[in-house]
Amino acid sequence: MPYAARIQPGTRVRLKDHDPAESGGLDKEAGQKRFAELNAELDALQEELHAAGTHSVLMVLQGMDTSGKDGAIRSVMHNLNPQGVRVESFKVPTDEELAHDFLWRVHKVTPGKGIFGVFNRSHYEDVLVVRVHGLVPEPVWQARYEHINHFEAMLADSGTIIVKFFLHISKKEQAERLHEREEEVGKAWKLSAGDWREREKWDAYQEAYEDALSRCSTEAAPWYVVPADRKWFRNLAITEALVETLRGYRDDWRAALEDLSQAKLAELAAYRKLLEEKAE
Ligand code: AMP
Ligand code: MG
Repeated sequence: MPYAARIQPGTRVRLKDHDPAESGGLDKEAGQKRFAELNAELDALQEELHAAGTHSVLMVLQGMDTSGKDGAIRSVMHNLNPQGVRVESFKVPTDEELAHDFLWRVHKVTPGKGIFGVFNRSHYEDVLVVRVHGLVPEPVWQARYEHINHFEAMLADSGTIIVKFFLHISKKEQAERLHEREEEVGKAWKLSAGDWREREKWDAYQEAYEDALSRCSTEAAPWYVVPADRKWFRNLAITEALVETLRGYRDDWRAALEDLSQAKLAELAAYRKLLEEKAE
């Protein structure tokens, strides 16, 4: 069984069926060992992705406040070559962004070929926070699920490998993490009264997430539910799903690199031949 649950297209997601404290039958030590192995493989895959330059990767991270989006980026990406990684964080839209369609700011920062892109929050906020707070009329956000599916299908058609993770934490774990931020001086900078306010809308958010995951998990851009109460398991589950996905492209990338190598060698051989002819 994979550690993160991949949502089959067309199935109705019920978050209550997914245990946020799941640990795959592993203890922390075994989990961290497996994480290290898979992370080394992820590093090698990223190098091939970057060198081959035929695809891009787009990893989307969503989750409630304190679910560990930042921590996952720090841990899962720590081995990768920073030259090939781009992280984009989506905040409250600016006036200029609001004056455009909701995908405008998103499309501008999608990863180019060879790049491993990470979205810390994403266009899904436009069917999450926007829906929960009624920031636009319901028909407007309702239409967005289909817009998102079309947009992601278009990205996939142009060579983007899309993997979307919902970091699933329990309400109890969130309270503990929020209190921890208050109690530890070194963590207080992360505090936000807004996090407590958003927590009051917990059920509305879970419902909005269930809809987004149910309606926007497609073959080309699947959603994964990641048990995220245990940080080490969250990192392992994300890394495993990424490696599983990217392994499927390794042969293509190696073939592209082989072609590239042959072309470079042929170019050099032709140049040498020309030098020899000149010398004669
Ligand atoms: P943080 O991730 O803690 O830096 O917070 C970013 C904030 O921006 C969160 O409260 C998000 O809900 C908010 N946000 C991101 N995208 C949107 C959006 N499209 N509309 C409204 N709020 C957003
Ligand atoms: Mg926050």
